[in-house]
Amino acid sequence: MKSSIAEVKVLKGEIQNLLLWSNSRTVATTLSSALDNSSEAKLRVIQKLLSKLIDDSKKELHCVRCHETFTKNRNSHNSCEIEHEFDEARDRIYRHWEGWTTVMNCCGHEVENDNFPDGFCSVSAHTTHASQVGYYDPKEGTGNSGIVPCSVKGCLLKEGDVESEDSEVSSDEEEEEDEENDCDSDEEDY
Ligand SMILES: [Zn+2]
Ligand SMILES: [Zn+2]
Ligand SMILES: [Zn+2]
Repeated sequence: MKSSIAEVKVLKGEIQNLLLWSNSRTVATTLSSALDNSSEAKLRVIQKLLSKLIDDSKKELHCVRCHETFTKNRNSHNSCEIEHEFDEARDRIYRHWEGWTTVMNCCGHEVENDNFPDGFCSVSAHTTHASQVGYYDPKEGTGNSGIVPCSVKGCLLKEGDVESEDSEVSSDEEEEEDEENDCDSDEEDY
């Protein structure tokens, strides 16, 4: 019995919803174990369906924030980590009866006494879009002096390292400053 066009549309919607709303790790492991007993023909179909992902996994890109190499398929909202930066000249120090609080110039993170700062200064997705990066401003002295453009860092970019035209921006590609870094479940999600 052949399904009608309407039925196929409903089926497609159901599968898409299931993929989008399920835990991504669960989708991946379910698909992966379903491959165990698949015929070559089925494997070829899956390979074709995942061709964009396969292409992405082979294409090395250069992050214009942390200057590391990454691939799109492995990039996630917390792949790009930048350390805080102590800056004696610019950090503000408030003394109080318990000791002192340092307000870090890089992002406003507060550190008590001589403790080490928590987490990272910036946790976000790797990006090839300089417009998405809050670079250090040497004139104003604002930002983290570790976050500088490739031209300052002296990166030798090969053709294709940085995508030029791609205006498609992932919605989770945001700066998340001051993130408390006590979440250890992130690896699970990707
Ligand atoms: Zn910071
Ligand atoms: Zn990065
Ligand atoms: Zn660079």
